[in-house]
Parts: sequence; C-alpha cells; structure tokens
Amino acid sequence: MKGRILSILFLAVLLLATGCAGNINRHSRIVEDLRRPVVYASIYPMYDFAKNIGGNRIDLRMVVSAGADPHDWEPTAKLMVELDKADVFIYNGVGMEPWADNLIASLTGSGPLVVEASKGIDLLKHGSADESHHNHSHTSFGYDPHVWLDPERAVKQAENIMHALIEVDCDNEVYYRANFQGFLEKLQELDTLYSKTLSRLDKREIVVTHAAFGYLADRYGLEQISVTGLNPREEPSAAQLVALTDLLRKRDIGYIFFETLTSPKLAAVLADEVGAKTKVLNPIGGLTKQQMDEGLDYLSAMRQNLDTLKEVLGQ
Ligand SMILES: [Zn+2]
Repeated sequence: MKGRILSILFLAVLLLATGCAGNINRHSRIVEDLRRPVVYASIYPMYDFAKNIGGNRIDLRMVVSAGADPHDWEPTAKLMVELDKADVFIYNGVGMEPWADNLIASLTGSGPLVVEASKGIDLLKHGSADESHHNHSHTSFGYDPHVWLDPERAVKQAENIMHALIEVDCDNEVYYRANFQGFLEKLQELDTLYSKTLSRLDKREIVVTHAAFGYLADRYGLEQISVTGLNPREEPSAAQLVALTDLLRKRDIGYIFFETLTSPKLAAVLADEVGAKTKVLNPIGGLTKQQMDEGLDYLSAMRQNLDTLKEVLGQ
C-alpha cells in the first residue's frame, strides 16, 4: 500500500516536472482524443517555423495560399469556419495580416489558441530618414511587420510558436523543444554566416521595390532604400519617382532588387532610367507553388538572398 502511494506521488511529481499537470484548459483537448493538433499558420514564414517545430506531430495548414501576395488577401467564409475548429492559429501580427483582426474577433469560445508570433519582440518603426520620401500610412501600427527577415528575431517568433504547441499538446513537449533547439541552431548558423559575409563587403545600400528588408538591414548594418514603402501595392507618385531616380544616380546604384510575387515592371523602369541592373531578393512573405515544390524554405531562401547580396554589394 505504501509503495503504491509513493508511486502515485512519484507520478504526480513527474507530471508537474513536464508542465503537463494542472494544464487543463479549453485547449488541452488533444490529450484526450490522441489526434494531431490542427494548426493554421497565416503566411509562409509562420508555416515554415511551425513545420520546423511541430514536424509530423501537427496537422499544419497555411492560410494564405502559395503564390498569393500576403499583403493583399482575404479569407473566405468557409475558411473562417474551418479555422474556428482548429487547435492553433499562428499569425505574424504587426499589421502584416490586415484580415486577422476580423478573423480573431469572429472566433467562438471553442476556437483555436491564437498566437501572435511577433509578441514581445523589439519592433522597428518604419519611415526612417532615408525613406522619408515614401508614404507608409497604410498600417495602423506604425511598425514594420517583416520581422522574420532578421534571424535573431525569427528565433523569438519560433519560440512563441513552440510555447503555443506545448500549450495545446503537452504530451509532445519534449519533441517540440528538441525540434526548436535544432531550428535555433540553424538560425544561429545563418546569422553568423550573414554577419561574416556582409561585414567584409564595402557597399551598404540595397534598393528594393517594397520596404520588406528593414529588420535585415537593422541586424547587419545595411541601408534600405525602397521604391514603394511597406506595401507593394502602393504606387509612388511622379514626384517621388523623380526624387528617387536623383538619389539612385547620386549614389551610383548598380542594382535594383525586385521580388518573385510582385511585378518587376517598376524596378525595371527605374533600373533602365538610372542605368542599373535588376536582381531578385526574396522577402519570403510568400513562396510560389513551384518554389515550395522544389523544396525552397525559409533557410534556403535566406541563403539565396545572402548569395545575391554578396554579389551585388561586393562589386
Ligand atoms: Zn511586405
């Protein structure tokens, strides 16, 4: 009898140690029915981070479909209903998903655990001095949402995602933590590679179509000059274009970057105007279906970007 009490006590201690005991809330239903948690991630980088941590123990879906511009998208009524039945909804936040506020407001009491991945992260204000010729009024927050492009901040986003997965599915806590640790090490390797590579190059300016690279520039001491501001749909005015071409000529800019998901037309016209060439720099906010099929992911896209930066800034 005494032995049995002791083993029960031991079990209780063990449960407490793993953080599972006492965690009986509305999100802990996974434990009872032994199915994989259904996790919706708003945009590609959130999907990628969740995949790295959740592996094959979560049923992961991406909200904004491959190839769609994440800035310009609306959920269907059908998707809203499906989302309400999910276990976790992960979004980047900081105004990246303008549709998320309505979606979250429409969720019922039995809806998913909502995770804002950028929560608690040191955010950058947009519209710094060198970008003052642009209008960024479309976001209500006044902060740059493209947080994932700094590997160090990406670690914190991944960590927020890990905590959410543990909250809904604490049986797999050890698995999620181990996966997070592995991903963390890859992000740290990437960060070191960026620092080493970029610190050796003389040029610092990157001219991009939309201001997605503020966090990357912040982390590695680059200067971002953007054509359209934070939202790729914002067209610069004629006066802004004239000021920009003057600036690019004065700085003797050799390359203008464009993206895979937005039209290269404006970048091409500008490049032609100032005698520069164009190249692709990927903001990774969304990948095309083809890129995903070919196995491109956050880490490999970041390495591709670094190769491109090395080529352009090393000249
Ligand atoms: Zn963007």
